[in-house]
Amino acid sequence: MPSITKAFILCVILCCSTFSHVWADEQSAATYMQSIKSERAKLRQFMQSFPKGGDLHNHLSGAVYAETMLDWAAEDGLCVFLETPSIGLDAAGDCSTNGWSSAGGVLLNANERRRIINALSVRSYHPELGWSGHDQFFVTFERMMVKPSRLADMLVAVSDRAAAQNIQYLELMQTPVLGELIGMLSAVELTGDPEKDYEILMHGPFGEAMPSLLENARKARRDAFEQRAKLQNCGEKQASVGCDVEIKFIHQVVREFSPAVVFAQIILGWELMADEDGSVGLNLVAPEDGYLALRDYTYHMQMIDYLYSAKGERNITLHAGELMLGLVRPKQLKFHIREAIEIGHAKRIGHGIAIAYEDDSAGLLQHMHEKSVMVEINLTSNDVILGVKGKDHPWSLYRDAGVPTALSTDDEGVSRIDLTYEYMRAVTEHGIAYEELKALSRNSIVYSFLPKPRKKELLDKLEHEFKMFEKQFD
Ligand SMILES: [Zn+2]
Repeated sequence: MPSITKAFILCVILCCSTFSHVWADEQSAATYMQSIKSERAKLRQFMQSFPKGGDLHNHLSGAVYAETMLDWAAEDGLCVFLETPSIGLDAAGDCSTNGWSSAGGVLLNANERRRIINALSVRSYHPELGWSGHDQFFVTFERMMVKPSRLADMLVAVSDRAAAQNIQYLELMQTPVLGELIGMLSAVELTGDPEKDYEILMHGPFGEAMPSLLENARKARRDAFEQRAKLQNCGEKQASVGCDVEIKFIHQVVREFSPAVVFAQIILGWELMADEDGSVGLNLVAPEDGYLALRDYTYHMQMIDYLYSAKGERNITLHAGELMLGLVRPKQLKFHIREAIEIGHAKRIGHGIAIAYEDDSAGLLQHMHEKSVMVEINLTSNDVILGVKGKDHPWSLYRDAGVPTALSTDDEGVSRIDLTYEYMRAVTEHGIAYEELKALSRNSIVYSFLPKPRKKELLDKLEHEFKMFEKQFD
């Protein structure tokens, strides 16, 4: 027998046996998951180490738990306004003003500590008359204060938590510059024509300040990554598990401001996304049902569209359709997702809850399928903010239409969850089978904004992780 034929037969035997072995392991893991899916503790244990790829929709400030924020406030000499309660600085600057306490003092008072943890999250929260889950969720961001020097600590907190759940990659939304812009641009009026408005902004104080604003933003992130590596002992023997979690930033634009402040944030983001190690994408945040977010929605899309054509393409992901009937007028449910894709060039959509209310919803789903526009699914967030869960959630519409999706946390600290919990919800509330969980996990790398070669490396690593995970069920 020619040696090439022998080699072929040997390969067929070995490859087939290897393949059937891997397949058998996958089946065993799938069968085991089916058998324990109604036992929460066992499902948690199973899902904790299930390889989850990445978390692509994660707001850094909302990812930190309130207890951690309070510890940092105490160490940094910040105060707590007891009535709300919220973290901040009093007029005297030393927490001595009536109604204020030092954060350190609050830490040692069980009742005050309980109150502020609840105020900075949805812990213990139940919707009540005149104050919905939506209201409680978004108000937490007004009550938080973390010193900018804590950026590295935030990266440590989220990457250690991710590593413990077998997550390899995080795209974290973060707003690098905002305060200076509000002061600088509060009196600037724009015209509504993005081309003219770009010139107005660039020929005013913003254009002048842009190089230093960019340099400060770049330096803050560089320093934070260096500091993170030190805090986690990366590259050393006692390195933290979090070192292995790759982190990239999504430039987060807060849209509930005047057009000048929003456009300036987008322009800065466009520059930061051009850096080799800068932000990998851009997103617009703040409640989509806010007055300015609704009033200027199309205009915001046009700002992105202008920069996309005039200054070069970038990766865009947008919160769109994080709305529900009753929350806004019906006419506002009809176009946000479509405009985000067609004008805002979104490659990914965050939430997409209002898809069934969009004009030509079926046509839009088909378009998303054909263009592979991925939807970032945030099950707990949708439940808390919009009251949408289980069979009311439009996830099945996307899945049936062949639109890619991936699971993400949105704000794991505010919601008091983690990505493992979201995978559990996928199983218990949506009946997602094991093979589809793997596809969701792969999607979180495939639709990341990493360069192609890096994606390939992480996908190979993920397949290896799946093999290791499934061996347990041999
Ligand atoms: Zn979000």
